[in-house]
Amino acid sequence: MSPRPTTLLVPLLTGLLLGTTGATALEQGHLRETYTVTLNGVTYRVPVDYYVWKNGDGHFVWLSLGVHPLEHQAHECMFHAAQWFVRYSGEFRGTLIVSWIRIPKEYYTTGDRQRDYQVSRDLGQLTFYHHVLRYVLHPEELGRKVGVRLTGRPELFLDVHAHRPWWGASEFILIPAGPVHGNDNPTSYRKALQICEALAGVIGASVDPNQKGTSPPWVTAPVARAGIPAATFENGYYYLEREMPANYDNYRTELDKALLEALYLYALEGGRVSPTPEGYRKLAHWYEVAAGVWDRTARYLELAADQHPDYADVLRHLSELARRISSLLRRMSDECRQVAALLEAGNRREAARLVDDRLLPEYNEVRRLYAEYIEGYRRIPVRIVDVVQPPSKTERPWWEWVLEQPWFPVAATVGVGVGALAVVKLVKTGPIPILGLIACAVPPLRRSLRSCSRR
Ligand SMILES: [Zn+2]
Repeated sequence: MSPRPTTLLVPLLTGLLLGTTGATALEQGHLRETYTVTLNGVTYRVPVDYYVWKNGDGHFVWLSLGVHPLEHQAHECMFHAAQWFVRYSGEFRGTLIVSWIRIPKEYYTTGDRQRDYQVSRDLGQLTFYHHVLRYVLHPEELGRKVGVRLTGRPELFLDVHAHRPWWGASEFILIPAGPVHGNDNPTSYRKALQICEALAGVIGASVDPNQKGTSPPWVTAPVARAGIPAATFENGYYYLEREMPANYDNYRTELDKALLEALYLYALEGGRVSPTPEGYRKLAHWYEVAAGVWDRTARYLELAADQHPDYADVLRHLSELARRISSLLRRMSDECRQVAALLEAGNRREAARLVDDRLLPEYNEVRRLYAEYIEGYRRIPVRIVDVVQPPSKTERPWWEWVLEQPWFPVAATVGVGVGALAVVKLVKTGPIPILGLIACAVPPLRRSLRSCSRR
C-alpha cells in the first residue's frame, strides 16, 4: 500500500451553479487519486473518484460506492440518484460526498471466476481501508484538494452494495454497523440504527443489525468506531440476467432517490415531526413520497410475477400488499393536511379526533401490512441456480456443482471457500423493523406538544 498516491486533480465548476432557492450556490469538486494496493504479493493500481457537492449549510452524508465492483449496477443507480438529488430535487442543502472505487476490470476478469470474485472484493476492501477511510474521517483534507471548504464530519456513512436473491431476504436491507461487525462505539451504532429505521419505511427496506458480511470489518466498522454512524446498504440484487424485469434498475434508481430525500429531510433529524401545522405538512409530504415508492414496488412485483410463474402467487400477494400500503399512505397524507388546516384554524379538538379516529388506526394497519410484506418475502423460493450462469459441460469446477445443491444457501453461510461465489452472509431476520416514517407519524396531540421521537 503506497502512502503516496498519484494525484490527479480535476476541479470542476466549483461554485458556479446556483442552488434552486437562489440563496446558496452549489459548489462541486471532483478528484481522482490512484493508489497502489498489494494483495497476495501482487501489486495493483486502483483509481478512486471523489465527488463533492455542497449547497450551503445542512446535513452531511458520505456515500461509498465500488467496494465490491461486481455489484456495480447498484452503484450506478445510487450515483444517478445522487446526481438527481443534488441538481434537480430542489431539496439538497448541506454536503454530499461520493467515493467510488474503480477497480480496473482486467484485475477481475481473468476467467478464473472464484479468484476473480475474491480479488475484486479484497481489492475494494483494502483500497477503502488503507486510502479512502482517511478522507471519511478527515473530510477537510479532501475539501482542500477539491477547493470546497468542508467542516465537520459526515452524519451518516452509507456503503452501497447489492446481494443475490436469496431465501429469507428482502431485497433492500440496511445494516447498521454494530457490535457483530466490530463496532464497539454504542453511540454511532444507536444513531445508525435510528437513521436506518427511519429510512426503511420510506423505501420498504428491512433493517438487520445482525447480518454479517465480508466488507463491514473493513469499511463500515472502522468508520463507526471513529464515531460516525455507518451502515451497509444492500441496494437490491446483482447478477440479474434471468431474475429481474428489464426495468429493475429504473425502479432501483427511483427508490434510491427517495432514500436520499428521506435521509436529508427526515431521517437525519431523528425522524422527528412536531405536532404543529408545519410538522403535519412535512408528514403529509413524506407519506406521499413513500406512497410513490410503494406504488413502484407494486408495479415491479407484478412484472416479476409475470416472469416467474413458479412463485407468481407470492409475488402478486406482495404486490397487493404494496398497493394497499400505498393507498393507505395517500389517505394518511390527505388527512395530515386536514389536521394541519384544523390546527391553523384553532380547532384542536377536531384535529385530535381526526388523529385518533383515522390516522392512528391507519398507521397501525400500515405497520401490520408492512410486517406481512417483509414476512412474505421469506416465502419467495428464489433458487440460486436461477441466477448463476449454467455451468459448462466440460471442466466443471467443484464450486459450480456446490452452487446447484439444494443445501447450498445454508452451507454457504459457513462454508470456507464455498462462500466465494455466494453471498457470504447469514440472513437472520431481526426484529420486525418499524416503519420509521410511520412510527413517528402521529404526534400525541392530546398529551403534549412534545415532538415525537422514534417509536
Ligand atoms: Zn457487496
